[in-house]
Amino acid sequence: MTDKKHQKKIKRAKKKKKEKAQAQEAQNKLKKQMGMFDKLPEVCSTCEADFPKTREAHMTWRVVVKPEKEKVWLFCPDCQENAKKLVEKQNEV
Ligand SMILES: [Zn+2]
Repeated sequence: MTDKKHQKKIKRAKKKKKEKAQAQEAQNKLKKQMGMFDKLPEVCSTCEADFPKTREAHMTWRVVVKPEKEKVWLFCPDCQENAKKLVEKQNEV
């Protein structure tokens, strides 16, 4: 095996280790978030639209969790769109 190849292998092993650590971190984060789910609001945090407990809603609504503040926000697709527009507008200025 050449040195170059060997180095590549080490690099790859390091990357794998990092990926594993990241996966672990993500899982811990998820666990924390799961604990926050009882705090999940039932309406949009902006327009107070009802959150439909459907699979589609889970895919389209956005959940923002701030564990340090023990707060969960829920944003309906409309409000996400509005927020996006607002940001775009701010960027234009
Ligand atoms: Zn909304």
